Amino acid sequence: MEIEEIHTIPPKKKIALVAHDGRKEDMLDWVAYNRGTLSEHLLFGTGTTGTLISEKTGLPVYKFKSGPLGGDQQLGAKISEGDIDVLIFFWDPLFAQPHDPDVKALLRLAVLYNIPTASNRATADFLISSPLFHTAYQRISPDLPEPLDKSDEVINAR
Ligand code: PGA
Repeated sequence: MEIEEIHTIPPKKKIALVAHDGRKEDMLDWVAYNRGTLSEHLLFGTGTTGTLISEKTGLPVYKFKSGPLGGDQQLGAKISEGDIDVLIFFWDPLFAQPHDPDVKALLRLAVLYNIPTASNRATADFLISSPLFHTAYQRISPDLPEPLDKSDEVINAR
């Protein structure tokens, strides 16, 4: 049996902001340019990215741990729980990251849960200028296989 989940992304969105070191300048410019629009939403970020954004723009950002220390995994968990609506993740295509498996896992969950995701400024510009950025949106997660409940088998095997 398949489960299809429909989750409403509300007009006031929970937006995650993450940038690798080589892309932080780009992220700070983008956030500063879009400060007005972003101030209407709730912002979340990995530790360093979130701190720099708060310092530069004065916007409140809920901060997770720094990416290499588990922040990407915390964000992934939030996505799986339906607590992040949009992911702006400027990852660095030129430098290997020590936490590359976490980066991959975060991007995987964003795709799995059908979260609007931007990995570069052009896509972030398209996202933030979409009318859907300000309205409710029915996000349909892809059909997920129902988790197997093995408890009966375990009990019967005793
Ligand atoms: P940072 O983490 O914001 O703490 O630098 C970003 C990342 O590397 O995922």
